[in-house]
Amino acid sequence: MKNDTWGRVKQQLLESVGRNNYANWIEPLELKKVDNGVAVFSVPTSFMANWVSRNFSETILIHLKAANAPASRVEFKVEPHKTPAAPASEAPAPKAEAAAPAPQKAVEPQVQDTPAEDLPGAPLDPRFTFDNFVVGKPNELAHAAARRVAEGGPVTFNPLFLYGGVGLGKTHLMHAIAHEIRDRDPSLRVLYLSAEQFMYRFVQALRDRQMIDFKQIFRSVDVLMVDDVQFIAGKDSTQEEFFHTFNALVDQNKQIIISADRAPGEIQGLEDRIKSRLQCGLVVDLHPTDYELRLGVLQTKAESYRAQYPELKFADGVLEFLAHRISTNVRVLEGALMRLFAFASLVGREIDLDLTQECLADILKASERKVTVEEIQRKVSEHYAIRLSDMIGPKRVRSIARPRQVAMYLAKHMTTRSLPEIGRRFGGRDHTTVMHGVKRIEELKGTDSQIADDLEMLRRTLEA
Ligand code: ADP
Ligand code: MG
Repeated sequence: MKNDTWGRVKQQLLESVGRNNYANWIEPLELKKVDNGVAVFSVPTSFMANWVSRNFSETILIHLKAANAPASRVEFKVEPHKTPAAPASEAPAPKAEAAAPAPQKAVEPQVQDTPAEDLPGAPLDPRFTFDNFVVGKPNELAHAAARRVAEGGPVTFNPLFLYGGVGLGKTHLMHAIAHEIRDRDPSLRVLYLSAEQFMYRFVQALRDRQMIDFKQIFRSVDVLMVDDVQFIAGKDSTQEEFFHTFNALVDQNKQIIISADRAPGEIQGLEDRIKSRLQCGLVVDLHPTDYELRLGVLQTKAESYRAQYPELKFADGVLEFLAHRISTNVRVLEGALMRLFAFASLVGREIDLDLTQECLADILKASERKVTVEEIQRKVSEHYAIRLSDMIGPKRVRSIARPRQVAMYLAKHMTTRSLPEIGRRFGGRDHTTVMHGVKRIEELKGTDSQIADDLEMLRRTLEA
């Protein structure tokens, strides 16, 4: 394997494991050789060898295979590095690579667990299974739909269209479906690839005058999964081909599963006839995670790390703290936890709140969610079905004054605004009025369970 292949693979690893993991664990790896199907890397310390091998070897292998490297195993040899890092020329160049992903070679990647070896699909991540998917309110519908499709049987909705923000589990669910279908019936031809790969396949077939083969392959699968379909928006001839492939498969009653970062109707630059085709099946979205789901994911991941590293200790409240403070996507959550573990095992300390804050300062800062007083007023008005103008206006009847106090209470607890600043945003009220309102709600919270529930609900929607 050439060094520039490893350079390219590194670039993909950067995207798949994130910048921090990349800098800590991937960047220091040196590829020594690929011999008899074994890719040998040297690493500076045995701790690193251990950690990388446990946590990243599968990912590295997947990407090596995808780049056509003749590797079926990876090995890490401890070898103190003389030069600190790889030469600059070998370091991946994010921009250039993103603009022009290397077209796949004519030879198909050797994905060993693919039953239909001739399919031009992307490798599946072995960790993305239904067993490893934590179900909560925000993703229960998507999960149920995915399960249903994975069961096989007659095709009831076509396509299944999954959409949602980044890092919410779309790719995970798609891989889970593919694993499940293949496990149940290895003879089925399941083709999973990203829309980007679809496009490169298509362009390559055009260039090599192999359109007949291309069409034949794509029309002969039993299940077609195309990830991140928004990628082909604005790419006219790719869309055209996608549309024909899609129709041909639907006509044969073959299951199609598509994902995107937004609803079909909202993908700009996508032809209308494709939009309406995509809307014909079942369209389900993955909502942003809520506190419970985040905590569930953290607990599951922490369990599996602890199984590997029993010596690691967790203080109470750390996972809750993370679930509360990191309100972005699951990928960020996973990255944070992994870094925490790595750090804790390096310094040999129990993972407590101090260590967490120290180690994750940048992530915590980046995901600080800034709720505004205006947002609070809007949500609270909606919740109690009063007008926003009344929330800020002079009326003092209970049915309006109470929601106003709830909003003041939340503004005090969820923003960094001072009492006078909050007062100003409530139609120029005095800070003592705000203080009184906050106090009143604090009292009621203990005695009135309806108010307590309302507060909990509102806080959650505002944090989501
Ligand atoms: P997307 O494709 O929507 O951007 P991914 O499917 O790549 O997101 O998910 C990002 C990461 O978060 C993956 O490592 C995935 O395993 C993990 N993840 C997302 N949702 C869940 C979940 N509900 N349970 C467990 N892991 C999850
Ligand atoms: Mg994805």
